Amino acid sequence: MRDWLQGIDNEYDIIVIGGGLAGLTAANTLAKIGHRVLLLEQHANYGGMATWFTRPGGHVFDISLHGFPIGMIKSCRKYWTQEIADSIVQLKHIRFDNPQFSLETTFDINDFKHILKTRFEIPQETVDTFFTTVRAMNFYDDQAMTTRELFEKFFPGRDDVVRLLMEPIAYANGSTMDDPAITYGIVFSNFMSKGVYTFQGGTDKLIKKMRAEAMRNGVTLKTNACVERILVDGRHVTGVRANGRDIRAKSVLSNANLKNTILKMVGPEHLSKNFLDETNAVRLNNSSCQVYIGIRKGERIDHVGDLLFTSRLPHFSSEALCARDVTSRTFSVYYPDIRPGTDRYSIVSSTNANYSDWASLSPEEYEAEKHKLIDETVAALEKYLPDVRPKIDHLEASTPKTFEHYTMHMHGASFGTKFEGLKVSMDLPNQVHGLFHAGSVGIIMSGWLGAVNYGVIVANNVDKYVREAAAKHG
Ligand SMILES: Cc1cc2nc3c(=O)[nH]c(=O)nc-3n(C[C@H](O)[C@H](O)[C@H](O)COP(=O)(O)OP(=O)(O)OC[C@H]3O[C@@H](n4cnc5c(N)ncnc54)[C@H](O)[C@@H]3O)c2cc1C
Repeated sequence: MRDWLQGIDNEYDIIVIGGGLAGLTAANTLAKIGHRVLLLEQHANYGGMATWFTRPGGHVFDISLHGFPIGMIKSCRKYWTQEIADSIVQLKHIRFDNPQFSLETTFDINDFKHILKTRFEIPQETVDTFFTTVRAMNFYDDQAMTTRELFEKFFPGRDDVVRLLMEPIAYANGSTMDDPAITYGIVFSNFMSKGVYTFQGGTDKLIKKMRAEAMRNGVTLKTNACVERILVDGRHVTGVRANGRDIRAKSVLSNANLKNTILKMVGPEHLSKNFLDETNAVRLNNSSCQVYIGIRKGERIDHVGDLLFTSRLPHFSSEALCARDVTSRTFSVYYPDIRPGTDRYSIVSSTNANYSDWASLSPEEYEAEKHKLIDETVAALEKYLPDVRPKIDHLEASTPKTFEHYTMHMHGASFGTKFEGLKVSMDLPNQVHGLFHAGSVGIIMSGWLGAVNYGVIVANNVDKYVREAAAKHG
């Protein structure tokens, strides 16, 4: 049997568990400042949710390259390379189509203000105050106000306005009307600053460049390396057990799912009762379904927008957005310029989903439901591309079980945990010294930008810990 850990040492300064965007960024940051870093990824590829796959016929499908805020340019320049930052480009055609309205927008503050005033006839002063309020929101604010209350304050009785403001953010981070308003305000403002961006070249190009840069900075990276245990002696982390082998480290940073990290890899015996209760109480975010639609080589499709938020639901509802019989879906249309020179088109449809709806099905029901999802998705797409069906030569669906399988996220959670997960993630080093967590938590630390930035924040804490520990022990 192949030894996937061949060539590694028995001890490192820092072990990073998981090669998602937070794990890769943290590993790169730590190696750049001189630490010896080992990154262990259980899957055969890096990127976590930010990954891609290929299929016969020359198809390449991106999982989560739908759109991120402009802040990614600065983060990639600062924490990765100028070259990576230079490939980030704006998506200019964002469309909404639902029973309440149909419109196209560049999804930035000026256009949204204009739409709210002219199309939805909201007074200028209300629009301005709303944007000023959400832009001023930050982590230290009052967390009692919910997004529902925020909207009720500014746009009472206007569920069409709520839909415009909320639907894209619900897709972007799984947040609902009952989550703290700051989780909405921070993410919405990030997008509103300058619109929606993507990575030209595709996820494959991005992750390959990140891997190459991390290696250049000295990170040892291994795939097919599953961490089964985080090793703890007393109150200190001492390393990990991966693929049955113990590897020592001064510090461990887990990019794996927060609850898996604490409850399965560390284990309750090393944690205080309070912390354990808090961890058990952390709610996971919803999961997703996707349909991957490959257009046959040589075929072309019309430009119908980059991101299409479509729905047949009469009104916006967070619950209905996750239901198995959903009619709300986002189409990401990938034209040849996303991968210049390839002349290929693909479309990915994403819907939010509940793990329980899919995990409870028998194998036969599961297959049947996947086929239904594919059929309904292609039918919905025909509204925008009436001649698309004969041009499709690959169709495939993923469900919450697929995301769980490939990333080991509990219940296939697409966006980590609800808000309370952030505190637990940040408190972990107080329970087990030297053990840190960075990855999608608390809604605001999720998404591409949130994951990259949280990776850096936690890497700085790891660096401080390792330096202080070294100073203490001479
Ligand atoms: C369908 C979908 C669409 C999305 N669309 C967008 C979007 O348009 N824009 C956006 O900004 N965000 C989007 N996201 C969210 C975004 O992709 C994630 O928030 C982000 O990529 C998460 O990064 P992460 O570092 O937190 O963790 P992850 O990507 O979850 O990575 C965790 C890694 O840890 C590894 N791992 C887990 N357990 C172990 C173990 N025991 N041993 C070793 N390795 C382990 C996993 O295999 C994985 O590689 C989307 C997500 C989904 C699912």
